[in-house]
Amino acid sequence: MAPQSQSPTTGASIIARTLKDLSVAVIFGIVGVPVSDIAEQAINIGVRFIGFRNEQAASYAATAYGYLTGRPGVCLVVGGPGVLHAVAGVGNASANNFPLLLLSGSIETHLVTKGAFQETDSVSLLSPQTKISLRPSSIEMLPSMIANAYRTAFYGRPGPAFVDLPADLINDPIDPDDIENISDRPKISDSPKSAADPKRLSQVASLLKSAQAPLIVLGKGTAYAQAENAIQYFVNQTSIPFLPSPMGKGVVPDSHPQNVSSARSVAMKTADVVLLLGARLNWIMHYGEAPKWNAEAKFVQVDISSEEMGRNAGYAELSLLGDVGVVITQLSQALKGWSYSTSSDHDQQLAKAKQKNEHISWLAARDTSIPLTYAYAFSIIKTALHTLSPPSTGGICYVAEGANTMDISRSIFPLEHPRLRLDAGTFATMGVGLPYAIAAWQAYNAPNAQASSGPAPRKKIVAIEGDSAFGFSGMEVETMARMGMDVLIFVINNSGIYFGDSDSAEDFGVKREKTARGKQGLRSWALGFETRYEKLAEACGGVGYFVRSPEELEKATVEGFRANVPVIVNVIIQSGKVEEPSFGWQVTPKKREKVSRL
Ligand code: ADP
Ligand code: MG
Repeated sequence: MAPQSQSPTTGASIIARTLKDLSVAVIFGIVGVPVSDIAEQAINIGVRFIGFRNEQAASYAATAYGYLTGRPGVCLVVGGPGVLHAVAGVGNASANNFPLLLLSGSIETHLVTKGAFQETDSVSLLSPQTKISLRPSSIEMLPSMIANAYRTAFYGRPGPAFVDLPADLINDPIDPDDIENISDRPKISDSPKSAADPKRLSQVASLLKSAQAPLIVLGKGTAYAQAENAIQYFVNQTSIPFLPSPMGKGVVPDSHPQNVSSARSVAMKTADVVLLLGARLNWIMHYGEAPKWNAEAKFVQVDISSEEMGRNAGYAELSLLGDVGVVITQLSQALKGWSYSTSSDHDQQLAKAKQKNEHISWLAARDTSIPLTYAYAFSIIKTALHTLSPPSTGGICYVAEGANTMDISRSIFPLEHPRLRLDAGTFATMGVGLPYAIAAWQAYNAPNAQASSGPAPRKKIVAIEGDSAFGFSGMEVETMARMGMDVLIFVINNSGIYFGDSDSAEDFGVKREKTARGKQGLRSWALGFETRYEKLAEACGGVGYFVRSPEELEKATVEGFRANVPVIVNVIIQSGKVEEPSFGWQVTPKKREKVSRL
């Protein structure tokens, strides 16, 4: 209940009170006319407001907050350009199935079509992009409409929801008689959880028992569902090997002997029955198709969304619809007394591939050349971080984005607990790194924190950023500093996208464009040579380190970890490689043609 002294006098107070009633602890956004008063009223009643430097970043932060807490992240923006910037977060929420409630202001109702300030028809814009898109037509409707949008964002398959708030509804004073009518005080319980069809369940149990090479795939849906206990139990009980997706890492500890991440290719090529838990057969999973996967494999999908069943290589007839935590507990019961034989040929094949690939990574980390390689830089950072905070405690939450930076770091930093790794995700969104770090800091470390994972109550948030990725939301360092967030950021700086620029790497500044690659100028993936990104932290009240050597990197990591302000460690690594940039996840039409001819 809101305190009596805060009794509502405008729509803004009603909106703030409704959010508080829905247990919203934080709003991500940028204020301006007409939404400022909503943020002010929310702060007055104990809801934290985190003001960003661009709505795009604010909307990304809200999506990650939704993922980490299991409740919609709330984002508040102005109309027109504010909404357009926040559409980025709507797309991100939709692609990743993260729950998001976007609230925006808009012009007074009577000014519609007159060319008013920041006028846009946001409901029309966002209706096709969201699960629900609403514009209340009276102050009385505010609580129920906001509550409906909030509920819709996270009940069923999570995604984005939108409420447009006209200025007159926000700002007009309410007649004291009308306040009495606004009695709606919404309370929304956790999302209802459904179990799978028992008949199908026993069919799946039989299929698993008959498999020669079963494999469990753990997607980020399992992390979102907070199903780690049931899944760990199932993995131990059945002895089936498992493969986590990039953000499914940690749902079962990476150190678990059944983890076949380092034998990923062999595991996918050989599996005959794949139990897909909260993961989609999209590009991240190579559509479940050959040649990455065994063409004969049967994919049993466990998902909260029936539309997902049968997509690409999915086996719709044996899909299990329901909450993954509930379904996996059912499956544990159905498979009681059975486990996959760990001495099989398949298991040995996996063990061999693991050993080989782990040796290759070990060798890569021993290339001690300067400028540093990715592998060497990451191994220095990892060794220092693990000394300060062993993975078993779950004391670090990693955020990673970029191309090589994200892909290479993924396998190097192990996780023992879920929801401690955020990356560019299904949408491969660049610019999420700093906003996600802010969301993670708020979710785990704020006085009103709403997320948890592992024994460590507080997490050091460590963002590992490509230099290009960092640039998309770099100014959010100021947000971190202002909000007292001690995030440790590494900018893995190769002076460009992918491998960085090659031939022209040393021609810095004005001269660079003129001299690089003869008359053609800089390549499209070139960025400023050895740009001093760390100074941005210094400019905002944080600390910056510019490092080239292993010793400098180790020192900066230790000091950066201990600092209580945001830190940017600008790590200069090898720049440039003559070959064209390539993207390992994609099967190009050419490659596909070659494959289909095999
Ligand atoms: P990844 O990128 O890790 O492969 P995806 O985002 O592709 O993961 O897939 C996550 C899936 O998890 C989505 O299809 C979503 O519907 C599903 N999901 C979300 N919550 C639950 C839940 N509680 N139970 C089962 N499935 C869920
Ligand atoms: Mg780069």
